[in-house]
Amino acid sequence: MALKSIEELDISSKALFLRLDLNVPLCDGKITDETRITAALPTIRYAIDKGAKIVLASHMGRPKTEADREKLSLQPVAERLSEILDAEIILVENPSGDAPKGLLGGLRPKQIILLENLRFEDGETKNDKDLYEEWAKYTQVYVNDAFGASHRAHASIVGLPGVIKEKGIGFLIKKEMDVLDKVLNGKEYSFVAVLGGAKVSDKISVIESLVNRVDTMIIGGAMAYTFLAAQGISIGNSLVEKDKLHVAKALLERFRMRGKELILPYDHVTVESFEKTSSLATTSGVEIPEGVMAVDIGPKTIANYVKKISQAATVFWNGPMGVFETPEYAKGTFAIAKSLAENEKLTIVGGGDSAAAISLSGYSDQVSHVSTGGGASLEYLQGKNLPGIEALKC
Ligand code: AMP
Repeated sequence: MALKSIEELDISSKALFLRLDLNVPLCDGKITDETRITAALPTIRYAIDKGAKIVLASHMGRPKTEADREKLSLQPVAERLSEILDAEIILVENPSGDAPKGLLGGLRPKQIILLENLRFEDGETKNDKDLYEEWAKYTQVYVNDAFGASHRAHASIVGLPGVIKEKGIGFLIKKEMDVLDKVLNGKEYSFVAVLGGAKVSDKISVIESLVNRVDTMIIGGAMAYTFLAAQGISIGNSLVEKDKLHVAKALLERFRMRGKELILPYDHVTVESFEKTSSLATTSGVEIPEGVMAVDIGPKTIANYVKKISQAATVFWNGPMGVFETPEYAKGTFAIAKSLAENEKLTIVGGGDSAAAISLSGYSDQVSHVSTGGGASLEYLQGKNLPGIEALKC
């Protein structure tokens, strides 16, 4: 069965279970970045315009203890949505209860139900049948627009659509898939992938699958030092995954065999320890002296990476170039953000920390697309089927 978009479904006056990713960052109960709310609005507004009876559902963080129930409540999201949509958001405290069933009957226009954090129910992450069958009791149409959660086989992502006939995707997922499909299929263009972040182990499979698609792979962040160490280059006290040196070596060899470029930093910003910003120094070459650790890419590396990005027709970026949370170590990451913003072709930021970095640097509006799902976009780019999308096809 083909994947349907919300526009192909009859949702008028129907009870619509709309799974969103409203997992916004919170600090002391305040929303610090509402990107995910903004990204969900086109689908919510469309459903309102069509006169659907809407039940919104989302997870928030990873609740473990009782205290997390207060910290990870969707209450701040309910308040913000109410302001933006000028609607009454009815927050249902027990996400697995049958309260929506009663509420849906008398729901007026400008009233929207929001289930409390789905992960307050253990069954959500376990794809528990009892849980999704409760939701199925009042759901007539199911729409998934939670791109950032679609690589997870959870009850609201996979279980529920499995038992609902009328189902499809919202505008956000459609946009995410359209953009990533362009990356996957744009073989005629020069394609540069920029990968950074802490661990090689997290990104091995994406590097492996991108070797066939990219022209140039640029590596930064802590994972670069595992690649350098694998070639016998001294890396001082920099972060390294010793058990992944052989993997890094094999990946370097694979790029070489295919005649593709894999570029690593050749100068670095170092410190004696993460806390000691006053010890900041720049290496003159690729070797990192004993007693210091690299926390960012150096100026020559920045210049080369920026040049490569400026010449590319498609750029995909995931992962910071250094410990960008500390301003003194953020130059490399922000330079990459700026160079994506200045490239007028297809530029995609693959969620997570790189999305935070591009937002911090103020360039979010100047790239083609900032994905709302880091893990999901990486899995999609590897050509993997996302369980949340597959569940809508059968
Ligand atoms: P990831 O979740 O794999 O994208 O990793 C992001 C994290 O990598 C961020 O918190 C960065 O601070 C961290 N990181 C990037 N570069 C370095 C580095 N050179 N040393 C230590 N941590 C780093």
